[in-house]
Amino acid sequence: MEAKSRQEIDLLKVAGVQIAIDYSWIVIFVLVLWSLSAGYFPEVHPGYPTSEYWMVGMAATLLFFASIVIHELAHAIVGNLLGQPVKRISLFIFGGMAHLGHEPTDARAELKIAAVGPLTSFVLGLLFLWIPDLLRLRHSYPMWSSVFDYLGFINIALGLFNLLPGFPLDGGRILRAAIWARTGDFRLATARAADWGRGIAWGLIFLGALEIFAGSLIGGLWLIFIALFLKGAASSSYQGIIMEQVLGGARVRDLLVRNPEVIDASTTIADAVNDHFAHHGFSGFPVVEDGRPVGMISIAQIRHCPPAERASKHVAEVMRTLVQALEISPDATLAQALRQMAEAETGRLLVIENDRLTGLITRSAIAHFIMVRNELGFAEDHAAAVRQTTAARPSATATAPPPTPPASAAN
Ligand SMILES: [Zn+2]
Repeated sequence: MEAKSRQEIDLLKVAGVQIAIDYSWIVIFVLVLWSLSAGYFPEVHPGYPTSEYWMVGMAATLLFFASIVIHELAHAIVGNLLGQPVKRISLFIFGGMAHLGHEPTDARAELKIAAVGPLTSFVLGLLFLWIPDLLRLRHSYPMWSSVFDYLGFINIALGLFNLLPGFPLDGGRILRAAIWARTGDFRLATARAADWGRGIAWGLIFLGALEIFAGSLIGGLWLIFIALFLKGAASSSYQGIIMEQVLGGARVRDLLVRNPEVIDASTTIADAVNDHFAHHGFSGFPVVEDGRPVGMISIAQIRHCPPAERASKHVAEVMRTLVQALEISPDATLAQALRQMAEAETGRLLVIENDRLTGLITRSAIAHFIMVRNELGFAEDHAAAVRQTTAARPSATATAPPPTPPASAAN
């Protein structure tokens, strides 16, 4: 279930893991490059030509992000070895993410997958700190020598930061694994780790505010942004668990609309509007060609088509082509369906069984189901059901860059 976000660019594949960058990453890339090339290096080593600062700054920046990728790759490789597949890593504004295909099924696997990240950062950090002596750069190339010192420092800082015991940081996952192992209760463990995550986020917000009052505006704001991101991720991971609890073990099969009305791909937009959309009040329909599902069309696509062209354009030209992200198996859980809809930014998925369209599952149907179950008091504790449904939750490991931007390290 790799719903590719439309904001990501695929970079390269390493050991079967796709490395991608999110557009938001460009912001942090420019910020780090600029603060190193125009701030840190000129301050530490005055008297060099500007071009040299930018060259050294670029090398340090690229190696910094390579370090984050290696940290995430370590999570991914250990995850893959322990049967918890990770097929995708992305760099984004707050660091890196390893997209776990599903939650670890036991506490030991969780512990190992989480711990290997910071461990890798520490090893990288020590390696970088050793390079200037190994290559005897200290006297001959002092500026390059401080590139490696900077990378050594930043990797160790990265490892320490990620060990903070709050979900979704690696330390929070380690904490969750520990509570999970002791109590056997995955939900309770996630709740505690998420509480710690929120607490740590508030602590970081406080530190960020102090930094701003102390005169470091960018550093302080950055820390606050990271904290808000962590706080959001901690809350949503817990809400996810509660959601699974409310949804119980219900599957797509239980709630799908069988034999939904479909639109043929050769229909004109005008006919689709008049005969289908206007008629039934649904906001989207599966599109078929020779009886086989090929896509989905919704009001959003119709709206993008100017009224003057609607009589001549066909549904096939404007529909969302059927990709894996838009189809789901009837055996998938409702929680999986909801997550997939969120990732694919759609309100409905085609239910496909043996290459045939068996039905349609909509967000509004699931919302209604949740409401009914809530009314009937189904939100009680039934840990076993939760464990079962959470076994397939995709999640991410965040690697926030260390709180202090490099430039302020020189002050
Ligand atoms: Zn990590």
